[in-house]
Amino acid sequence: MSGLTLRHPVDEAGLGLTGQRVRERLIARLLAEGVADARVLEAIRRVPRHLFVDEAISGRAYEDTALPIGNGQTISQPLIVARMTEAVLAAGRPSRVLEIGTGSGYQAAVLAGLVDQVFTVERIGPLLRQARRRFRQLGLDNVRSRHDDGRAGWPEEAPFDAVVVTAAARHVEPAWLAQLAADGVLVAPVGEPGASQRLVRIRREAGEDRQDDLGAVVFVPILPGVGE
Ligand code: SAH
Repeated sequence: MSGLTLRHPVDEAGLGLTGQRVRERLIARLLAEGVADARVLEAIRRVPRHLFVDEAISGRAYEDTALPIGNGQTISQPLIVARMTEAVLAAGRPSRVLEIGTGSGYQAAVLAGLVDQVFTVERIGPLLRQARRRFRQLGLDNVRSRHDDGRAGWPEEAPFDAVVVTAAARHVEPAWLAQLAADGVLVAPVGEPGASQRLVRIRREAGEDRQDDLGAVVFVPILPGVGE
C-alpha cells in the first residue's frame, strides 16, 4: 500500500482528528465538572455541536460556553445542557419530553438520543426553521417541533414525563405543571429578567410536587407571544 493514500481518520460528522480530540476534551471537562451519568456523556459525545452554530464560530463549538445563534439568542453551555439532561433522567428514563425554547435545536438533539419522543416549542420562526433542518440532516425523526408561545406548553400532546425549559421564566407556568405526568419531572431556570436565576427542579411523586434548587444559571428570558 502506498503511503500517499494515508488519510486522517474522519468521524461520521466529517470532522478530522482535531475535531474528535476537541470533542473528547469537552467530555473530559464535563466529567471533571461532576457530570456522572454515562448516558448523558455519551449523548453529548454523539451530537455534533458544530452543526448547531454558524459556520463562522463553529471552531468554538466544543468549548464549554454558550454561543450566539442569532436573533439575540444563544445555544446553551454544554455543562448546563448536561446538568438539565441529568436532572430529567435522575428519576428513570422519561418517554415523552417537552422542551420550551428550541433555539438551535441542540438540547433537543441531545434529549432525542435518550428518550422516545421530544416535543419542542420555539417562538422565533427563523430559529425554528434552522433547527428543523438540523433535525432532518441528523435523521432525528423522534423530534417534533411547533412554532408557538411555549408558555402554553403543548396541550394536545400532554402528558409529558419531563418538561425542560431552556429560557428563564419569572415563574413556573401553570400549563407546564398541568401537562406534567404523574411521576413527571420539570426543570426550569427561574428568575426575574436581569436578576439572578436558579435552576429549579420539580418532581411529582405520589400526587405531590417537590421542588429542589440545582444552582445558579444564566439564561435568556422567556418572551411573550410568537415572533415572525
Ligand atoms: N435549547 C436551546 C437554547 C435556546 S435559548 C438550545 O439548545 O440551543 C432559549 C430559546 O427560548 C430562544 O430560542 C428563545 O427564542 C426561546 N423562547 C423564549 N421565549 C419563548 C416562548 N415564550 N416560547 C417558546 N420559545 C421561547
